[in-house]
Amino acid sequence: MANRAKYVYFFGSGKAEGTAEMKGLLGGKGANLAEMTNIGLPVPPGFTISTEVCTYFYKHGNTYPKTLRKEVEAALAKVEKAMGAKLGDPANPLLVSVRSGARASMPGMMDTVLNLGLNNQTVQGLVERTGNERFVFDSYRRFVQMYGDVVLGLKPVHKDDIDPFEAIIEQKKREKGVHLDTELGADDLKDLIERFKKAVKEKTGRDFPEDPMDQLWGAIGAVFGSWMNERAIAYRKLYDIPEWWGTAVNIQTMVFGNMGEDSGTGVGFTRDPATGENVFYGEYLMNAQGEDVVAGIRTPLPISQMKQQNPKIYAELDKFRKVLEKHYREMMDIEFTIQQGKLYMLQCRVGKRTAFAEIRIAVDMVQQKLITDREALRRIHPDQLNQLLRPVFDAKEKESAVRAGRLLAKGLNAGPGAATGRVVFNAHDAEEWAKRGESVILTRIETSPEDIKGMDAAEGILTARGGMTSHAALVARQMGKVCVAGCSTLEVDYSTHTMKVSGQVINEGDWISIDGTTGEVINGKIDTRPSEVLQVLIEKTMDPKDAPVYQEFEKIMKWADKYRRLKIRTNADQPDQSANAVAFGAQGIGLCRTEHMFFGEGKIGPMREMILADTVADRKAALSKLLPLQRQDFAGIFEVMDGRPVTIRTIDPPLHEFVPHEEAAQRELAQQMGVPYEKVKQRVDSLHEFNPMLGFRGCRLGIIYPEITEMQSRAIFEAAAEVKKRGIPVEPEVMIPLVGHVKELHHQAQIVRRMAEEVIREQGVRFPYLVGTMIEIPRGAITADEIAEVAEFFSFGTNDLTQTTLGVSRDDAGRFLLPYVEKEIYAKDPFEVIDRTGVGALMKMAVERGRDKRPDIKLGICGEHGGDPSSIEFCHIIGLNYVSCSPFRVPIARLAAARASLLNDRPTARGRARARIGRGARKRRR
Ligand code: ADP
Ligand code: MG
Ligand code: MG
Repeated sequence: MANRAKYVYFFGSGKAEGTAEMKGLLGGKGANLAEMTNIGLPVPPGFTISTEVCTYFYKHGNTYPKTLRKEVEAALAKVEKAMGAKLGDPANPLLVSVRSGARASMPGMMDTVLNLGLNNQTVQGLVERTGNERFVFDSYRRFVQMYGDVVLGLKPVHKDDIDPFEAIIEQKKREKGVHLDTELGADDLKDLIERFKKAVKEKTGRDFPEDPMDQLWGAIGAVFGSWMNERAIAYRKLYDIPEWWGTAVNIQTMVFGNMGEDSGTGVGFTRDPATGENVFYGEYLMNAQGEDVVAGIRTPLPISQMKQQNPKIYAELDKFRKVLEKHYREMMDIEFTIQQGKLYMLQCRVGKRTAFAEIRIAVDMVQQKLITDREALRRIHPDQLNQLLRPVFDAKEKESAVRAGRLLAKGLNAGPGAATGRVVFNAHDAEEWAKRGESVILTRIETSPEDIKGMDAAEGILTARGGMTSHAALVARQMGKVCVAGCSTLEVDYSTHTMKVSGQVINEGDWISIDGTTGEVINGKIDTRPSEVLQVLIEKTMDPKDAPVYQEFEKIMKWADKYRRLKIRTNADQPDQSANAVAFGAQGIGLCRTEHMFFGEGKIGPMREMILADTVADRKAALSKLLPLQRQDFAGIFEVMDGRPVTIRTIDPPLHEFVPHEEAAQRELAQQMGVPYEKVKQRVDSLHEFNPMLGFRGCRLGIIYPEITEMQSRAIFEAAAEVKKRGIPVEPEVMIPLVGHVKELHHQAQIVRRMAEEVIREQGVRFPYLVGTMIEIPRGAITADEIAEVAEFFSFGTNDLTQTTLGVSRDDAGRFLLPYVEKEIYAKDPFEVIDRTGVGALMKMAVERGRDKRPDIKLGICGEHGGDPSSIEFCHIIGLNYVSCSPFRVPIARLAAARASLLNDRPTARGRARARIGRGARKRRR
């Protein structure tokens, strides 16, 4: 008996069986209703049927566990006792809502039924008790409509089709010659209800259910059924929500916002979800119920207005806002209803927000001592920093556009940032156009879950209807898209693919610009400018004092640096790139590809001469022309890096990549070199390889042509000596690529060390230097112990290591790798995210074997994975010393490294306790 499964959890009268931590079982809504009850907020009593029932339901041919009915009846009895009313009682009926609620919030995915329990008898009882006939029949009308739509399936599949109930309402209004629903009286509503029921009978062949218990089970079944509807499935796919999670069902006592002008309903955020500013943010409507606020039928009022209209309720709400933030230590999203002057809380969850807001909230909450800097770091996903680096409109250009009368409209600033693109009017077109490489602004009257893929493809989203909590606004914030919502002056016409606004017609394909920070919609294209962070750090055109976003960025970076163990280097081949990386916080160069330099000015000629040379003497002659050019490049980098370590890789790609393949170019080269064309052609042809990736490249080049390695190391060390003499410290690290056998490295290292000692002697100046290797083919990883006898450092070249471990050529993988990921053969593209079990295992082995032989060996990664947060975490776990990534990813890597250490290193007991409540929030954001 003791172990019998429990499926139903009661909440009410100040005590709940659930808690916020039980989201897996109770869903987000249920768990938080329980939590709010427990912390003493006024929540109408109810109960939650757990997600396990959903799982059971689908496993057992849409049936329920045997004990469920009894549990539901018992919980209902408790609710009835708490309310002193009974479901179906003709004299004193209890009404409930039936609400879905999965573990992660799925906005607009599933449907809620309100006012359940009304029938021809209970309406009379309610009229007598409330003396408010209009309210009662308005509620009944809503109930029959929602139940008909959601449970009985009358809702049209396509959103452009007309809801049969709405058609009946329109008809009625025409008959009465009125415009608004509120102009219909009780008798009209009664008539509507009769007509609704007739429509139900016609469409389904059955009478509308009168028995409240039948109504209740019908609604419960519909919620569980909706877990598998098309919209829900599409949403889950997009956000990686597993099907097995299931949804819970919440049955909750109704409170009424539609009882008159002292009643109302609203939604809010405890802080501004767009900017993160610490102000109460929300919208409400008096004399309204439930969905009226988000449905866009009536325009809600900003919450600030309630301060004047109803100071008592406002003060109470503001108090709850603070209670919630203090308890959850998070920015929360709330739903509330006022029934005849009494406030009820109907929902709370961690609020969705922009990256801007996320960062500002985290920083502010640290300041307020609500959270620690560690928690702040755990909350910000590294990729969110990307948004801070995103462009904004060129302020002057925008100003002049506005002055020139190009401002078309102003909507809500639902998703900050600047986007410019061509107008399309549906999600499908957005996808198609984006595929062709067009920038598009998806423009809709309002969006719905069907539009998600198009929203994802668009640069920005513009809607004519809906508030800050509309579907478009919520989804855009989650996706990090620029969004202007509720731009009510747009007259969008889907049939002609045009919109009218301020007397102008905008056609499909026309350029517009939207500013998601201010809500402005501007005709034509406006150039964007780099973000504040870039203006301060890279362009140095802005003073940090005038850049609040930069200041927050800087705080996060400072905290990240406090907790990370990994050092962050950058992949850079030029002084300017290196300088950018240093501005972003790079602590060294992890990969300087010398071959990129050969394409620089004046270098490709001697390079080609070197490649085409027949004799060692000719090759040396060509190399001696390259030496000063390379030295200059290296000197520039050393200077910028100012004593930070610089890893320089000796020549790596197959030589044929440097020579011309067309006849004309070959003839030209022959002329330049003073040799016959045939000779050039023959030499180029002889460089042809069937599989260059595994061919004559990497250290193999330096072993066959040692004079190349000699020249390159000489250039590196002469540059080092030169810069050192100028008083700038240097730390060169020479890296030999593609080593599979220790003897390969030994051969090359000898040359490098000999050159270093020669230069030190010649120049009379000492500097530290290291010689190491890339680990990028399996044999190198497997024999890492042998290799470590020679190598002073390893750098994992995970691009090639992934190619060679998987036996997949990255250049040829296009055709099958994406399908592989779709079929979940690999969970993620292994060239983006390290394949931990395969490639990762080799890395781990190489780390262990290398350290075993040489405890102070320096270990890093320079493949593109070095900028990917999940791969960075893996590098942290296996104990590398640094990761190296492209300059613009350095801030992301700094944060990712800190998070890796906060999430993986053993926390203290106190840290664990503090982290507990915030955990649900982190999971939500993946
Ligand atoms: P969603 O997940 O789409 O937000 P909800 O279950 O929160 O769906 O319900 C939709 C609307 O109905 C919300 O505005 C909510 O506040 C309102 N609502 C739900 N339950 C009740 C209730 N018991 N009393 C009054 N309003 C309710
Ligand atoms: Mg819903
Ligand atoms: Mg809700």
